[in-house]
Amino acid sequence: MDNHSKVIGLHDYSDSHGGYKIRTINPTIQSGSTVLFESYEDMQLAHQGQYSGITYGTGGLSTQKAFEKAMCSLENGHSSYAFSSGINAVINTLMAFTRSGDEVLIVDNVYGPTAKFCDKVLTKFSIKITHIESSIGAEINEYINGNTKLIFLESPGSNTFEIQDLTAIAKVAKKSDIITVIDSTWATPLYFKPLDLGIDVSIHSATKYICGYSDVLLGCVTVNKKYSEEFDEYLHTIENYTNSHDCYLALRGLRSLRVRLKAHEQSAYEIARWLEPAEIVDSVIHPGLDSHPQHHLWKRDFTGASGLFAFTFKEKYSEQKIAIFMNSLEMFGLGYSWGGFKSLATARQYKRNGQYVHQGKHLIRLNIGLENTQDLIEDLKSSFSKLN
Ligand SMILES: *Cc1c(COP(=O)(O)O)cnc(C)c1O
Repeated sequence: MDNHSKVIGLHDYSDSHGGYKIRTINPTIQSGSTVLFESYEDMQLAHQGQYSGITYGTGGLSTQKAFEKAMCSLENGHSSYAFSSGINAVINTLMAFTRSGDEVLIVDNVYGPTAKFCDKVLTKFSIKITHIESSIGAEINEYINGNTKLIFLESPGSNTFEIQDLTAIAKVAKKSDIITVIDSTWATPLYFKPLDLGIDVSIHSATKYICGYSDVLLGCVTVNKKYSEEFDEYLHTIENYTNSHDCYLALRGLRSLRVRLKAHEQSAYEIARWLEPAEIVDSVIHPGLDSHPQHHLWKRDFTGASGLFAFTFKEKYSEQKIAIFMNSLEMFGLGYSWGGFKSLATARQYKRNGQYVHQGKHLIRLNIGLENTQDLIEDLKSSFSKLN
């Protein structure tokens, strides 16, 4: 059975009343701090660290466990853990697996706050951060030395969309016993299974497509067998906690993810293919198009595309011109985050390795929501006309 069908099928949630079992297809939203023990003996076992059940709300209640179980199944992982946001999932993964004296290699197309945490916080603990080319593959070997502990990847990057050769990187990392971590938010666990490619840890900002309604912040980390125990021990120590209500919403989002994602994907392709030949447009940066520099890797490792991509204009417009374009969009909201029902746009110039990419032009990033595709095209067309 397809593992998304399994997630839809998860419904072992029951309670009893009047002699009858009350079986719902959704979990109960269990919230709380105190968890009761069955007996004093169990309480004593917990005190000695020999109790296998949950002893306190921070251990994750049934709602959190249900979400984690679903994610673990989708990611083909050994264990999954919910976090209160995507960035929290990233930060805790980095904290769990590094110590003073280690070196972390991080691709330079990662989510901004991820790089900032490495540069501003991990360095305080004498961890060396080295930023590497975002389309890297086996050449990563040249960066590896005796201190290299962790490689942090993001593929495709959520702003500039470069893709890494994951199987080549995993092979190199395994040889030197280096842990590989990837932020896999863009493709969702439906279209991308990095653990199957040999990556050790996969992180999702469930805030995006998994929740899908731009009303929740949530993250999830899935770990393979090799690193599960180490991560588990770290989490027991920090007593990570995630809200039950948010996990409930994320689990609900997972049930309909397949159909929503297909709609985002199709609409985004339609708009990307409309943009490609447009007179005013230079390049469309979408991993699923033949024109993408790492399209061959995307085809090898992904089974679909989401609805987030970017384009540049032929002319290098000034900030003022970009403002005219952005402010005339009516269907696209100007806002961060993505993966939700509403279409959004951002415009920024990006530097990689200290140099502007795409000739210093603004990348117009579009989050294609669930509106009628033709309406979105009309909105872009009308805003383009303001630039002439
Ligand atoms: C949004 C995002 C995050 C952070 O997720 P939050 O839930 O907003 O904290 C991490 N990685 C990527 C690629 C993202 O787009």
